[in-house]
Amino acid sequence: MIRTRIAPSPTGEDLHIGNVYTALINYVFAKKNQGKFIIRIEDTDRTRLVPGSKERILASLKWLGINYDEGPDVGGPFAPYEQSKRLDLYKKYAQELVDKGAAYYCFCTPEILEQMRKDQQAKKELPHYDQRCKKLSKAQIKDKLEKKEKYVIRLAVPSEGTTTFNDLIRGEISFENKLIDDQVLLKSDGYPTYHLGVVVDDHLMEISHVIRAEEWISSTPKHVLLYKAFGWTLPVFAHGPILRNPDRSKLSKRKNPVWASWYREEGFLPEAILNYLALMGWSLPAQAGMPDGREIFTIKEMMKSFRLEDIKPVGPAFDLTKLLWMNGEYIRKTQNSKLKGQIYEFFNKRYSKEEIEKTLPLVKDRMKKLSEWESLTDFFRKAPTSYEIPVNKDHLKNVLTVLEKKDWSHEILEQTSRKVAEELKVKAGDLFMSIRIALTGKKATPPLFETMLVLEKEESLARLKRAVSL
Ligand code: GLU
Repeated sequence: MIRTRIAPSPTGEDLHIGNVYTALINYVFAKKNQGKFIIRIEDTDRTRLVPGSKERILASLKWLGINYDEGPDVGGPFAPYEQSKRLDLYKKYAQELVDKGAAYYCFCTPEILEQMRKDQQAKKELPHYDQRCKKLSKAQIKDKLEKKEKYVIRLAVPSEGTTTFNDLIRGEISFENKLIDDQVLLKSDGYPTYHLGVVVDDHLMEISHVIRAEEWISSTPKHVLLYKAFGWTLPVFAHGPILRNPDRSKLSKRKNPVWASWYREEGFLPEAILNYLALMGWSLPAQAGMPDGREIFTIKEMMKSFRLEDIKPVGPAFDLTKLLWMNGEYIRKTQNSKLKGQIYEFFNKRYSKEEIEKTLPLVKDRMKKLSEWESLTDFFRKAPTSYEIPVNKDHLKNVLTVLEKKDWSHEILEQTSRKVAEELKVKAGDLFMSIRIALTGKKATPPLFETMLVLEKEESLARLKRAVSL
């Protein structure tokens, strides 16, 4: 059984867009193979916890439509799915490693560690734990424990040899053991570090494939050593690309919005975000009757042909402009009836469905984000207070007198206006522009007569009158 997971830490505002990418490939891979996709919250770094982060992470996944089979709020056979609720387990497993001689107690105080770091710096050595507590005798340890001295538990990393693992995306990766620090596994506050927590939980939760971003590669040899020390079977490891800014640096808050909620609040559609992210390290192969390299596809289509080994280790830069373009394409692809509901919800029901329904067809082509519906249609709600260019009042007076007596239909409006232009001996386009400015204040608007129909007769005439009288 294929079982994948993401294990976000609730230390940021929300789900990071990089984690959305990782979630997507874990989800697609699991579902393609009739497997399960799991969410585990890794909340063991108590100093960096952000209140509400966990709830926002789960809400964002739901909004994106990345459905998980097991997780903190849905439970599952390996509950709880929050590490802070599993502390006894980590203690037990850390102790098991101590008993096996694969880990040891370390009583060094922060002051001792600081001095160690300074001494190593002076000797131009890389900072590392010098293993002094590894040499403590059983009696010394017993004595310190009895005196209630604070301790951590460290992994006893072999000082020679290499640790090697196979990465499904990158091939074989090796690290020299002498460069791996004796990693803290259990902290003095009783919480595990990431390394112990992730290995214990991935094992207990029967995760078959650990799929995560490349920034975790250097942690993997520590994990491999832990699996070996416990005598557990390794999962398959696959490290995908991290998302990068156009200058190739890691996607950062300074250069790009990174939180899923930002995209939601801006009016991006989940389908467009997922489609765009899918392209970050993968492309759609040719399918029956369809060319390959198509950029717009559904997640269902992605699932059909997705293989982890096809992910490229380095992805293209994350380009917000391209995502925006794609979002516009998705808006145009969405049926008006559905889009109407999305806009209604987006603006928290502030505008009536009727109003959205009437105006949407007129502005849909120009919308790149849901949020833009409001500004593109604001002139329907508010008469203009200024005009982008001056109007010809005489011409408008003529139009007004004629239109006052007419029924309000597209055909009548068009015929009448054209006739007035003929009589005035002006170009129809020029007259239409004056009418458009009088009604909306703007040069670029939806088609004129459609706009007049939505505004209706009374309001259109009132606006024309106002333009004439100013
Ligand atoms: N807690 C880690 C994170 O914040 C999990 C990394 C992993 O997938 O192993 O992303």
